[in-house]
Amino acid sequence: MEFEPTIGLEIHAELKTKTKMFCDCLNNPEEKIANKNICPICLAHPGTLPVINKKALEQVILVGLSLNSEIPEYSKFDRKNYFYPDLPKGYQISQYDMPLCKGGELSLFLSDDLEESKKNIKITRVHLEEDTGKLIHSKDKQSTLIDFNRAGVPLMELVTEPVIHNGKEARLFAQGLQLLLRTLGVSEADMERGQMRCEVNISLAKNKKLGTKVEIKNLNSFRAVEKSIDFEIQRQKEILEKGEKVVQETRGWDAEKEITYSQRLKEEAQDYRYFPEPDLPRLHIYSKDKSDGLFNLEELKKQMPELPWERKVRITKSYAFLKNINLLIQDEKLMNFFEQVIREFDEVGLNNKEKAVSLAYNYLTSDLKGLMESGLITWEKLKITPQNFSRLIIFLCDDKISSRAGKDILAEMIKRGGIPEDIIKSKGLEKISDEDQLKSIILEIVKNNQKTIEDYKKGKENALQFLVGQAMTKTRGAADPKLLERLFKKQLS
Ligand SMILES: [Zn+2]
Repeated sequence: MEFEPTIGLEIHAELKTKTKMFCDCLNNPEEKIANKNICPICLAHPGTLPVINKKALEQVILVGLSLNSEIPEYSKFDRKNYFYPDLPKGYQISQYDMPLCKGGELSLFLSDDLEESKKNIKITRVHLEEDTGKLIHSKDKQSTLIDFNRAGVPLMELVTEPVIHNGKEARLFAQGLQLLLRTLGVSEADMERGQMRCEVNISLAKNKKLGTKVEIKNLNSFRAVEKSIDFEIQRQKEILEKGEKVVQETRGWDAEKEITYSQRLKEEAQDYRYFPEPDLPRLHIYSKDKSDGLFNLEELKKQMPELPWERKVRITKSYAFLKNINLLIQDEKLMNFFEQVIREFDEVGLNNKEKAVSLAYNYLTSDLKGLMESGLITWEKLKITPQNFSRLIIFLCDDKISSRAGKDILAEMIKRGGIPEDIIKSKGLEKISDEDQLKSIILEIVKNNQKTIEDYKKGKENALQFLVGQAMTKTRGAADPKLLERLFKKQLS
């Protein structure tokens, strides 16, 4: 019998509220000046009192509703006591036995594999707490600075049941959750910027028993989530197969070497001495008869946008001819852009819509996405509008410009904006399909490339491609290469 891995995730996400969890300091993750957004409350001066940010409660409840969690009628905050320099209070306000959301599930809907995409990962709970400050260690390791801008920022924590079996499932879960949080508008959930942070619990055992649990902390990319789990499964398997014991510990991830390493041994489970937060009232979230409570759950459900998995079903049905719909689905900004482009197509009333949609899909998922991923352009700096993008696609569809010219125009519009008609005109990119117009260019190239002509006549096929390339350069990509090939052959026969 093989050793079976059992994996659970703990995911933290910073919420996108205007102000912090218990005071009215700005919650601005972009703030560059250290300790700018702080006040006596988030610095825990004696005598200050916290006030609950209702928006943060609402955001976590929205997440719970979308995951089909149970939302209990009552909830409360608790103190989790521990000392760490980034925690000025000496305790964190969190939730212990009465979280905002209990249970629920999220399917691995972003998987390309149909069976896998239906698999549901059960969720234990989702609760709300506050983030800590940030420690900044100096390069010489002689000093540490503290920035409290992040202290007291609302932080959502989601815990899954230990039902994940490999690194890929964990990655798909985390990616799906990120997309959900962005769609709901409750968090940017950018892992590289620490807005979403993953911890993994992992153990291996036979016969459905539970093995010794190892924690992997501070995973700050999807790749790290997947790779660290697969590495750890292999590491623990080798230990167990030798008849040795896995040590209960916390491990870190070395992204360069792609290995986990021991950080600290876990002695006893830490005792946080949780107790109900005495400075905050118990929360009456809602009442089933709607007579009382902070929220009306039915109203919240009505506010909910189309969820990513619902969107996937709709888009897959409407555009079954697109190859890999996930390329769009997993990036909600790209997806929104795509849908706006489609609306433009519908307004114009195209007769070859399928071709236009396919072209738009290709340009968005290869060219635009490529630029975004290489970091050369960001959504904030993007100058092209869906309207102008759709016009460019229509030019391509009607065969008025070549695909090479299309790519050049797109690059120009992404960086500088503008209307495709103007760029086509100013750069002379309209496709030249007039044979007479091309004839003079061909004659000139033939005259200036006698050596290549001889090669061609000796039977070198490359020679023809070279000549076509010359003509493409001369026409700045505006000619049809197939037509050029035919004209050259005719000229040289
Ligand atoms: Zn504050």
